[in-house]
Amino acid sequence: MNPKIKNLNQKIISCRKCDRLTEFREKIAIEKRKQFESENYWGKPVTGFGDINSEILMLGLAPAAHGGNRTGRVFTGDKSAEFLFKCLHLAKFSNQPNSERMNDGLTLNNIYLTLALKCVPPFDKPTSNELKECFKYLKEEFILLKNLRIIVTLGKIAFDSCLKVFELKNKDFKFFHGARYRLNNKLEIVASYHPSPRNVNTKRINQTEMIKLLKSLK
Ligand code: SF4
Repeated sequence: MNPKIKNLNQKIISCRKCDRLTEFREKIAIEKRKQFESENYWGKPVTGFGDINSEILMLGLAPAAHGGNRTGRVFTGDKSAEFLFKCLHLAKFSNQPNSERMNDGLTLNNIYLTLALKCVPPFDKPTSNELKECFKYLKEEFILLKNLRIIVTLGKIAFDSCLKVFELKNKDFKFFHGARYRLNNKLEIVASYHPSPRNVNTKRINQTEMIKLLKSLK
């Protein structure tokens, strides 16, 4: 692994800046969901995953309580990951159609996955101060992603967070699935609905639409 990203990831994993989020992620790791009660939850901030030389960054909001916060890897071990990786694999961005646990052999091709907020927030609602505090890590990732051309944001909050990091106004960028805008002369932002079970079950998003969006990035 690139030593700079290794150092950054170590810094992220040991971060306890936000009291509320530190307490919440650790509480979930102790209480656990019944289905996973025999597992050791990660319970720490979740770093990015993939090749730092990628041209595409996929940005989610935060780890899921029993997904990334349990497994320690972004979009791993929950229903959202199940849907997303089926699509990423079919669009040839990953070597396998599933993302279940760390060291499951998953590799990504020209795509780096990360989160705007590295710790799970209660009710999936971070405060603006927590987001602001955590953006410093995202900004460091942007600097290390030297070949970055496209940022795909999963869900409106990730989309808005990305605009905030670039100090752009939301009103100039309408969010809808497949929306694509220039952020500056090097970078584009692409909006996608979040691959959550709710969006999939209500057919707000389906596999065909997601694969179409992913293929359009190539
Ligand atoms: S949300 Fe970010 S800044 Fe806050 S404790 Fe987690 S890693 Fe640190």
